[in-house]
Amino acid sequence: MHRSHPSVSPMSVQVVAAKMAEVELKDVAGKDLAPVPPVTPKADDKGVNKNEPGAAVPPSASPTTEGTAREDPFPAPSPNPVKMPQASAMKRTDPQQNGGEAFVNSDGTVAEAPRMKKIQFADQKQEFNKRPTKIGRRSLSRSISQSSTDSYSSAASYTDSSDDETSPRDKQQKNSKGNSDFCIKNIKQADFGRREIEIAEQEMPALMALRKRAQGEKPLAGAKVVGCTHITAQTAVLMETLAALGAQCRWAACNIYSTQNEVAAALAEGGFSVFAWKGESEDDFWWCIDRCVNLEGWQPNMILDDGGDLTHWIYKKYPNMFKKIKGIVEESVTGVHRLYQLSKAGKLCVPAMNVNDSVTKQKFDNLYCCRESILDGLKRTTDVMFGGKQVVVCGYGEVGKGCCAALKAMGSIVYVTEIDPICALQACMDGFRLVKLSEVIRQVDIVITCTGNKNVVVRDYLDRMKNGCIVCNMGHSNTEIDVASLRTPELTWERVRSQVDHVIWPDGKRIVLLAEGRLLNLSCSTVPTFVLSITATTQALALIELYNAPEGRYKQDVYLLPKKMDEYVASLHLPTFDAHLTELTDEQAKYLGLNKNGPFKPNYYR
Ligand code: NAD
Repeated sequence: MHRSHPSVSPMSVQVVAAKMAEVELKDVAGKDLAPVPPVTPKADDKGVNKNEPGAAVPPSASPTTEGTAREDPFPAPSPNPVKMPQASAMKRTDPQQNGGEAFVNSDGTVAEAPRMKKIQFADQKQEFNKRPTKIGRRSLSRSISQSSTDSYSSAASYTDSSDDETSPRDKQQKNSKGNSDFCIKNIKQADFGRREIEIAEQEMPALMALRKRAQGEKPLAGAKVVGCTHITAQTAVLMETLAALGAQCRWAACNIYSTQNEVAAALAEGGFSVFAWKGESEDDFWWCIDRCVNLEGWQPNMILDDGGDLTHWIYKKYPNMFKKIKGIVEESVTGVHRLYQLSKAGKLCVPAMNVNDSVTKQKFDNLYCCRESILDGLKRTTDVMFGGKQVVVCGYGEVGKGCCAALKAMGSIVYVTEIDPICALQACMDGFRLVKLSEVIRQVDIVITCTGNKNVVVRDYLDRMKNGCIVCNMGHSNTEIDVASLRTPELTWERVRSQVDHVIWPDGKRIVLLAEGRLLNLSCSTVPTFVLSITATTQALALIELYNAPEGRYKQDVYLLPKKMDEYVASLHLPTFDAHLTELTDEQAKYLGLNKNGPFKPNYYR
């Protein structure tokens, strides 16, 4: 499939997004953009008491409910060099419930611990090991970035040169122009990585459109962006877009496993200072972040983070840098949670943009992404045929709706369980049989959990399932299926494929457990590039907005991207489909009380 880059509708801008904050949004909206108020609890925030803006943590995240309490993300705050805001008059609520950390199982697989596990930081580490740690001996003490559980990487490194055990830290490498300000696995893989990036570009139309628009305007001219995200082909498209918009970028990986080595090589060859490789040790991880930040004569003025580790590092080691930093853009659930905690404690010293809760991101991640990746994950792990199979989907929220739609379309007979009568009625109206799990558990071929809840599938249900039943989770990692209850002496576990276990009962019955109850799609499939395109575009616009915002527009607080920009992200993706958007007439706009150019919905609209 080869699409030409879409020409973006003339609906707005002559100027690139950057000036969006000031130019384009005026152009579109006909007036200055008012920032979205800092993080009010959203109408649909799960588990948040909407009547109590001060309810800091949703009930499910209460320290008393499970595990260890979440603590201040930066427990020993460094002296704040910049103006320390007072604890905000209006308290904020972290809208997220997911907070599980990832860790490494004894077999090397990555698992997520129950939510509310204490966040661990390498607080005291500033000296780095002289001797590199090889992959097989990597330290397990640090829980790897939460990004692995709450943000996506479609990373699959095709050139994982496992034969080369030398740590990149021990190699002297230069790109073809003689530049050596990077640390990656192997610069020789650059050509291959370039092809990966070009493939990703085809599915990231909005970023390509931004680049085109940037030919005249450089909305990020002078921006020095330090980034810590998954380093994949999709991130490379984002980084090259930021560069096209005028930014200088230095980048590290937010996850020790997800770097596509060939992509990192292509970026290094293209002149980017990238410090990342697949299979970093814990020590490598922080070393790479430090190399990004700690450079003579170069100071970042923007942060793009995924998981909060980079932000944490700068807070801990280089707090003075915040004097020059104009803002933080954070993508992940965990990172956003940390920012809210900082803000609540009055310790956030620059404005931050919560990209995770943008409408477009949420919609695409939850509904559309799951609609596609549920089939992908099941197929790759089990080769199951969907037609005629009886499937029960627990939970009919966004994720459940996506799963049900996909399975129904494949000819499966789909049952739904719900606790909420509204979602239950929606399931009925969509043509699904609403049942209790106990009513169908003996007959179904596949059980999928999508509730965000815990212990939805307990041992009793697992005991009653029929032979060969496939059990998997698309909802909250590690909690929805009571996997621990299967680790008893009378049951035998057989690893039949990567991420596939047969759990065998004494009578020979076996169930097929996928990804040990972790998120099926993140563990066993890739995420469509188009979904990542939405997120990456939102990140780019958030950077542009924060970088260009006039003094005083944003305070030291956490903000959602203005609705107008969410709409803009969506509009940039429409040309891919040759979609023709209807424009309001003056009369209609007046009738609805809207500006003809948006925003078309209130900020709380999801
Ligand atoms: P949602 O709140 O819209 O839907 C969850 C639904 O489950 C709700 O309607 C709720 O009433 C129902 N529910 C709760 N407990 C139940 C129970 N015991 N039995 C049956 N139904 C129950 O949330 P969502 O956006 O659909 O997300 C669900 C989960 O999936 C969250 O944990 C979210 O973090 C996760 N998620 C996963 C992915 C992925 O790629 N796999 C993507 C986004 C979100």
